Amino acid sequence: MQPFVVIGGVAAGMSAASKARRLRPDWPIIVYEQGSHVSYGACGLPYYLSGVIPDYRKMIIRDPEYFLKKMQIQVHVRHRVLAIDTENKKVLVKNLDTGETFCQRYETLLYAAGASPVLPPVPGVALPGVFPLRTLEDGLALHSRLQDPVVRRIVVIGGGYVGLEVIENLRLLGKEVQLIELEERLLLHFAPDFSAIIRDELEKNQVEMHFGESLAALRGNGHLQTVVTEKGEYPCDLAVLAVGVRPNSDLAKAAGIALGYKNAVAVDRRMRTNMPDILAAGDCAETYHRLWRKNVYLPLGTTANRQGRLAGENACGGQAEFTGVLGTSVAKIFSLAAAKTGFTEQEAAQAGLAAASSIVETIDHAIYYPGARRLHLKLVYCPRSAVLLGGQIVGSEGVAHRIDVLATAIAARMTLQELGEVDMSYAPPYKGVWEAVVVAANVAQSAWEKAKG
Ligand SMILES: Cc1cc2nc3c(=O)[nH]c(=O)nc-3n(C[C@H](O)[C@H](O)[C@H](O)COP(=O)(O)OP(=O)(O)OC[C@H]3O[C@@H](n4cnc5c(N)ncnc54)[C@H](O)[C@@H]3O)c2cc1C
Repeated sequence: MQPFVVIGGVAAGMSAASKARRLRPDWPIIVYEQGSHVSYGACGLPYYLSGVIPDYRKMIIRDPEYFLKKMQIQVHVRHRVLAIDTENKKVLVKNLDTGETFCQRYETLLYAAGASPVLPPVPGVALPGVFPLRTLEDGLALHSRLQDPVVRRIVVIGGGYVGLEVIENLRLLGKEVQLIELEERLLLHFAPDFSAIIRDELEKNQVEMHFGESLAALRGNGHLQTVVTEKGEYPCDLAVLAVGVRPNSDLAKAAGIALGYKNAVAVDRRMRTNMPDILAAGDCAETYHRLWRKNVYLPLGTTANRQGRLAGENACGGQAEFTGVLGTSVAKIFSLAAAKTGFTEQEAAQAGLAAASSIVETIDHAIYYPGARRLHLKLVYCPRSAVLLGGQIVGSEGVAHRIDVLATAIAARMTLQELGEVDMSYAPPYKGVWEAVVVAANVAQSAWEKAKG
């Protein structure tokens, strides 16, 4: 019997291996991971930088020894797959410690090679002092450099979720932080008013921000000294690059595996590639979007785990279909949380759908119970049917749970009225008697009725 071979041992790869083991106890399962660690929560890395997570080992869910002893899954770290021979169903593997290469046959292969940080094509991007943040190794290297008191001034390039999470944690360390952002405002997929609320929060926390600036060069004499944009020069001791990721699909492409949206590995709803017995999952692969009704590229840990689990099931002969994503995501930004699900009005327009929206400002729990904070909600809906299409929330408490309520409502194709009529819980420390999501739905429903006349 040939084994189930997995390339990549983080979220998608280990979810698949674990699921396959549960379904087929006797099948040999082998995972090759080029890094030194598997099964870790990369999402915790920003918090490790500041010491909120004091020990990086806490982010490692399970190690190779656990997988071998408890699950009979062979995990080989520091082993890179160099090539996939689809005809003879084998992979060429290099042991990065010994330099030895060898071939391994497979019955089924899962390509779960993840994504890599985008490195802007500017001079100096490889200078010491310029750090991406993607892998645990990246996190350890950056953490170690931040311990040096000489590192005081830091430029973060890119103000997406990862950049903003890193900024908060650098400020917790007492570093001086400047943000360089290409766009004219933060988080373009949020309403402009919401971007302004987040910008104010960064300002309150002494983050200097530069909008509409494109990175031109990273300069220094043997070590980064200045970040240069088209508009200015920013002397610094260190820079963090957080301008997005691209799928690790080169190896797949070289093997003849078809690529799709944004060069991610093309997959069907069962996570099958165009090659027999080769599945793909996670940040290297496309994702089916429930509203677009087609594949997109939305690399997220939630999706990687779901796709990986499903690929593990299908590797064992299952026929499970991925139901899709809505791009539901949330990030902590100092004392705020910002979350989004489904379509913005612009995305709806791109998908050929008419969309209307309504924004409410309310509070997160009963006004008379101490600590009530502002909560901003935006609902995007179909102007004909009043079916919910998207939502955004910015606030302090309960943002993550509320965005999940909106995601559930979108998945269930609920109308504003139906959402407003859901029987939600209430207790003064947690909620208002009119829950914020219900308030937002009712306000949008009134606007919809008025517009209809
Ligand atoms: C700082 C940070 C914060 C994040 N926060 C969140 C969050 O809050 N919520 C969320 O949903 N997502 C978050 N993410 C994204 C999430 O971490 C990823 O979506 C998830 O890790 C993807 O898992 P994956 O297994 O598909 O890919 P990866 O985690 O990229 O793992 C793929 C692995 O494959 C290995 N590999 C690649 N090529 C080969 C090869 N040829 N041979 C052997 N091994 C190979 C790589 O070394 C890598 O370890 C965050 C990411 C970062 C970096």
